[in-house]
Amino acid sequence: MYVNNNCVGCSQCMVFCKYEAISVFGKATISEKCVNCRFCVSYCPMKAIETGNAAGASNAVNATETASNGGMS
Ligand code: SF4
Ligand code: SF4
Repeated sequence: MYVNNNCVGCSQCMVFCKYEAISVFGKATISEKCVNCRFCVSYCPMKAIETGNAAGASNAVNATETASNGGMS
């Protein structure tokens, strides 16, 4: 699932997602909680939610934490 540039940030999709997978900060983003039920697709008045992965659509769920410990004791 991804959100295209039609999104106007109305938050309607966020309310309808049963899995709390959508966050809206100006524009909707879909997190890894999404189970691809497609429920939100029919609710978006802007047709901004599409299935699949768009090249160039990033959902900003990228938490790379590299904990390196020098082993000081
Ligand atoms: S319902 Fe559509 S336009 Fe509204 S926030 Fe969700 S994706 Fe964006
Ligand atoms: S496809 Fe389903 S789980 Fe994924 S964001 Fe839409 S409503 Fe939520």
